[in-house]
Amino acid sequence: MQTKNTKAFGTEAADADLKQMTIERRSLTPKDVEIEILYCGVCHSDLHTARNDWGGTVYPAVPGHEIVGRITNIGSEVTKFKVGDLAGVGCLVDSCQTCSSCEQDLEQYCLNGFTGTYGGHDKYLNRQTFGGYSENIVVTEGFVLKIPANLDLAAVAPLLCAGVTTWSPLVHWKVGKGSKVAVVGLGGLGHMAIKLAKGLGASVTLFSRTPEKTQDAKDLGADEVIISTDSEQMKTVKGQFDLIIDTVPYVHDVNPYVATLNISGTLVLVGYLGGLEPILNTVPMILGRKSVAGSVIGGIAETQAMLDFCGEHNIVSEIEMIDMQQINDAYERLLKADVKYRFVIDMASLKQ
Ligand code: NAP
Ligand code: ZN
Repeated sequence: MQTKNTKAFGTEAADADLKQMTIERRSLTPKDVEIEILYCGVCHSDLHTARNDWGGTVYPAVPGHEIVGRITNIGSEVTKFKVGDLAGVGCLVDSCQTCSSCEQDLEQYCLNGFTGTYGGHDKYLNRQTFGGYSENIVVTEGFVLKIPANLDLAAVAPLLCAGVTTWSPLVHWKVGKGSKVAVVGLGGLGHMAIKLAKGLGASVTLFSRTPEKTQDAKDLGADEVIISTDSEQMKTVKGQFDLIIDTVPYVHDVNPYVATLNISGTLVLVGYLGGLEPILNTVPMILGRKSVAGSVIGGIAETQAMLDFCGEHNIVSEIEMIDMQQINDAYERLLKADVKYRFVIDMASLKQ
């Protein structure tokens, strides 16, 4: 298959900085669109992947799965887009389309494994997929999203991952008016969880380790902020919440949060991947019919529904714009939880 060289930013090893490199994008197949990338959000998963936190990263790795841009070329059978349209790409660029998950619009749970926007298996070029820290991307139109025209384009980018990852559990667990939702961690995912839960009509509490984030959380829509390291404050919300979305990226004790669930409440882990320490105590779960669950990103139809909802409710991410060349510093700041509340790369900086 023919390919085209493209400028990108990526890393050659877990302990190396990201730097400029050249990658290849495939020539358009009939159902493909080519997108000039204008903005790309910086997810904590980009950092986990670049540094091989989860194991299995194939190098070179080019992260980036919060992509917005403009269609520059379309294949002969494309019907959803025309050249010049705005478009978005999130964490998925392909799936088998035939398994029971895909048939239910749950491509993120594809039984044959979805193709991640980066670090997935590119069936066309038979190597790893490369993400959005690049000039352009070629994606089959079924995995490309339409962007509401009324929203700030750079601030839309984080909706493609942070938005849908928090939206999906809110919808699955039927959050609406009268629901009591809590969010653990005020970073990229956490701040979108607050905005989306508020948008759906819930009351929202933030659990944070960082007292300095209290005012920001309230400005974002949180009704209440509980400093999770303060056991007295934690006691005040015992037995309160219908749904807790836990976005913390590293191993942490979830037992104190289970204690704040209402009867039949659910704590959904979306951040940390791996075994829990200290171990999860089942006693309060059994005696209160409580659940501890997990959730990964969202399907394509669900992502479009979230984008449309954000268009109607004027919801976007709070962003700090950076140049591509600042990405290594941005990762260091992510590790210190020092981001308000999502870095977005102005991809024009890669053209310089
Ligand atoms: P982020 O912007 O870095 O935010 C994480 C927040 O968690 C921090 O701001 C901090 O909030 C809190 N935190 C950080 N380290 C902590 C620790 N050791 N203990 C307790 N709290 C801590 O990250 P993000 O981009 O939102 O991503 C969050 C996690 O979700 C990452 O692991 C990412 O890979 C994962 N993720 C999962 C999915 C999915 O589909 N399930 C999708 C995207 C991302 P406070 O200062 O308020 O405490
Ligand atoms: Zn992400």
